[in-house]
Amino acid sequence: MVINLSKEHSLITNWIAEIRDMEIQKDRMRFRRNLQRIGEIAAYEISKVLPFKEEEVQTPLGLATTRRLLEQPVLTTILRAGLPLHDGLLNYFDQADCAFVSAYRKHDKDGSFEISLEYFSSPEIENRIVIISDPMLATGASLVKTINYLREEGEPRSIHIVTAIACTVGIEHVRRNVPTATIWCGDIDDELTAKGYIVPGLGDAGDLAFGVKIQS
Ligand code: URA
Repeated sequence: MVINLSKEHSLITNWIAEIRDMEIQKDRMRFRRNLQRIGEIAAYEISKVLPFKEEEVQTPLGLATTRRLLEQPVLTTILRAGLPLHDGLLNYFDQADCAFVSAYRKHDKDGSFEISLEYFSSPEIENRIVIISDPMLATGASLVKTINYLREEGEPRSIHIVTAIACTVGIEHVRRNVPTATIWCGDIDDELTAKGYIVPGLGDAGDLAFGVKIQS
């Protein structure tokens, strides 16, 4: 299932507009904060499909019947670009367990690239609700590789993918390889360059959040 959060009229379109805007992007702190806010909205929307339990709570005046999240999800992100979106999700799922994966594009001389995974740190994920964040779902290759990697450790009960901007090609790649996952996106673009950048997209999310990296 694919959910485009910009389809409904809400503040998320405001923040998507700001992360795309070349002038506003120059403010790195605002760029990170906007990705966080998109993560917060996504957490709120995902929470609507998660299981809750009824609980009596003692207030100073009596007993209130309330509802609380039944279990904590595992928030997984792909370093480094995923960090602000992950932070936003963690602001709302504030007791979640977290997993981190480092993935990068290893470029060949002919311009092609493959995804290399290195650092991996994860709690137990067997039968857990896993929420994976990556701000740009471009080819979908790093997401699928990360999910396959996670699945070697255990089979999650459900997988949610949170992305600020997704490309239709990447969505199709994820749907083919992880058909049970739900994809929550801030917006969807149709074009991908030969170098794997989304058009119009926003540019390089990691560089905009943390500065331009050296290519070695
Ligand atoms: N990663 C980015 O940061 N931007 C893109 O357009 C695609 C992948």
